[in-house]
Amino acid sequence: MPINVLSEEFASRIAAGEVIERPASVVKELVENSLDASSTRIDVDVLGGGATSIVVVDNGHGISSDELSLAFERFATSKIDESSDLISIDTLGFRGEALPSISSVARVEAVSRYSEMDAGARYVIDFGKPGKVESVGAPQGTRVQVSGLFTNVPARRKFLGSTAKELSRIQSMLSSLALVYPNVAFSLTADGRERLRTLGSGKLVDAISGIYGAEVASHMLELEPDESAAFTVDGLASTPSMNRSNRTYITIAVNGRWIQSRRLSYAIEQAYHGFIPERRFPIAVVRIRTPMDDVDANVHPAKAEVRFLREDLIFSLVQRSIRGLVSDTAPVHELGTGRTGGSSGLLLTSGDLQKTKIGLDGNSVSPVINRGAKRLSNPFVTSNLEPNAFLNESNPSLTPKEALPVLRVIGQTRETYILAEGPTGIYMIDQHAAHERITYERVKEKFVQRASESQPLLEPVTVELSPTVMVIAVTNIGVLNEIGWGIEQFGNESLIIRSVPSALATRVSGDGAGQVLVQILDDLTDGGSGESWQDRMLATIACHSSVRAGQVLSTEECKDLIRQLENARHPNTCPHGRPTIVQIAFGDLEREFKRK
Ligand code: ADP
Ligand code: MG
Repeated sequence: MPINVLSEEFASRIAAGEVIERPASVVKELVENSLDASSTRIDVDVLGGGATSIVVVDNGHGISSDELSLAFERFATSKIDESSDLISIDTLGFRGEALPSISSVARVEAVSRYSEMDAGARYVIDFGKPGKVESVGAPQGTRVQVSGLFTNVPARRKFLGSTAKELSRIQSMLSSLALVYPNVAFSLTADGRERLRTLGSGKLVDAISGIYGAEVASHMLELEPDESAAFTVDGLASTPSMNRSNRTYITIAVNGRWIQSRRLSYAIEQAYHGFIPERRFPIAVVRIRTPMDDVDANVHPAKAEVRFLREDLIFSLVQRSIRGLVSDTAPVHELGTGRTGGSSGLLLTSGDLQKTKIGLDGNSVSPVINRGAKRLSNPFVTSNLEPNAFLNESNPSLTPKEALPVLRVIGQTRETYILAEGPTGIYMIDQHAAHERITYERVKEKFVQRASESQPLLEPVTVELSPTVMVIAVTNIGVLNEIGWGIEQFGNESLIIRSVPSALATRVSGDGAGQVLVQILDDLTDGGSGESWQDRMLATIACHSSVRAGQVLSTEECKDLIRQLENARHPNTCPHGRPTIVQIAFGDLEREFKRK
């Protein structure tokens, strides 16, 4: 074939492929235009998962009739001009590509009335073929209807999912936008049924209530930004008890723009590490503010991702602020809640309890005092305790840290659990999980202070490794040795272990230590690295350094373990997020025995 210059029409159909992948992309572009037009209400109505028709109606400033057809030209935009700095764009759109792209693969009807005009205008562009602009009566704002999407690009249409699938993509995308713009009232109707509605009150918690329901909204903790800082993080993040089986409930915005970022989403998940079980995810709306010239929005065709000048800084800022909030409110587990589906089975925090007064299975539960109450000015956490009482850690009558009261040990059962009595109920402690928590904190503290202790093995052991694991071991030998291992490379396929982290030395033999090392390296091979991997390594060491289930403990040993647990920073969960302790409230016992 000779070289052809493709027609404008054909070229834009190709370009449309980048911007408009499926009905949800159309909805996203139209709604972003509505947001850029300062709308306070945006109603979306779809038929057939958006493949049949999509209508977006807004009450924004509108488009004047003499510009209506221009809006559909390629690279036509009112948002930037050639003097604009492409790095600090504060509108959602800026490329002038959405409307021409959509209209090259669908029939589009736009009706708009500009705020300063009496009459509106209507313009139809049918799969790229422009019609005439005619004058019509219309309310202020813009209504765009897109029908028959991709009927001229059968290859694209074939790739669409089922109606339900495409609808769910639209719904989850619109949910995210509604969460990022709580000041805008959103609605979504699909085939005549309302799927989503927010009030536009401006309060994030109302938006969450509209999207995820009142129950979720009442389990959110507030992130308080440091207003004086150049980089800030605010928003709401769920208590650990409120979690989900996938990460789609994490919404991230940067300078008002909803973005998708695997890294930041990971930072948020990591903040919950040890507080919610593996493979469970929090619900969060995290709004990041940075100086405008720190973010490049012009890196992704659908503007779904941005590039940060200082990504590491933002990553750790997000992780730190959520981690602080979550660890301040980690709850004691209540008996019976482990069975409930949906939530992880961890109990509500004190604030939640005081608010609802009802446990997950309908029983009333006693409030648990936690350290979080003092720091948060969270609407849901109300504490009637003197904040200063918590700060005075030498006061022996109060538990200064989290919820663990002083416990009286009753004994051990099944060589696995320690029974104890506290002021409000009976506590059962998993000896292994509790010891794991204690050891983990100790090992971690030493590691952070770069004071990890090491103990030589009587006889060095060699471990053989596959070439891939070997490469990983060698690259990480520095960190491993820093945590107390004494490891050297020995030939191409093996390592010699000369010493082990002291915590391990009391529990495992030389060969056992080799196995622990292999487990840590496997973990590292599975894609982990950085801070999270270090945490998992510490957790693995803690696990192997701790008493096991099935081990008989004397009353003294039980007491000792409980005293140490009381002093742990986060006594209620093991480093993997499982509970260390469950309680039966006396109130519940009384009910069981029909005493009240
Ligand atoms: P961009 O958003 O990148 O500017 P679009 O193709 O999405 O490009 O839109 C082109 C132009 O049409 C916008 O710059 C804006 O001036 C106008 N426009 C589109 N939709 C709306 C709307 N809902 N309300 C007001 N103006 C709109
Ligand atoms: Mg746009």
